[in-house]
Amino acid sequence: MLKIALSKGRIFQETLPLLKQAGIEPLDDPERSRKLILDTNREDVKLVIIRASDVPTYVEYGAADLGVAGKDVLLEYGGQDLYELVDLRIACCKLMVAGPVQMPTLQRRLRIATKYVNITKGYYADQGEQVEIIKLYGSMELAPLVGLADLIVDVVDTGNTLRANGLEPKEKIADISSRLIVNKASMKMKHQPVKHLVEQIAAAVG
Ligand code: AMP
Repeated sequence: MLKIALSKGRIFQETLPLLKQAGIEPLDDPERSRKLILDTNREDVKLVIIRASDVPTYVEYGAADLGVAGKDVLLEYGGQDLYELVDLRIACCKLMVAGPVQMPTLQRRLRIATKYVNITKGYYADQGEQVEIIKLYGSMELAPLVGLADLIVDVVDTGNTLRANGLEPKEKIADISSRLIVNKASMKMKHQPVKHLVEQIAAAVG
């Protein structure tokens, strides 16, 4: 049995064609079904539907053999017990520092709101800049508008959300796309089926 962990929404939608080319088709639509484990046309493959930020955890602990996770999530997670094997080139975006078009001059440390606390710490530490980081779980764009933070660190695709809130991208931290990740023990213990599936998915990416 192979379990593949992935999140609903954009990652699921964009992973579906790759899985299909690898001969795997879910029997349920996660947007409609409340099932968290989806059967597929292959008896030996199931899809586990979880939050994007939980995918590396499931794969690292072997609760799923494989997973699809954004590079942003992987950088933030920083786990050891998983292999990042294929860049699926889906759900592409950029991890950016963003803020108001007009930035006031500050007499104190920059305050930065983000859900990417580890990445943000590392980014500013590398620059030797001391900042205050405020952990948020969503709607980061709101923080500068209401005076909670000076800047945000978030993923940006078209930039429309930033613009709609009077913000602009300031610095790029990383290019992001989704990656196929594999549990290290599964790679050893289920070598043939895992390797075969990884090769099929990699071939579908082209
Ligand atoms: P945008 O197209 O820049 O307006 O992006 C809209 C919102 O979707 C932003 O608030 C981002 O947080 C989010 N977003 C965009 N691209 C991705 C992605 N590849 N993965 C996860 N979230 C994303």
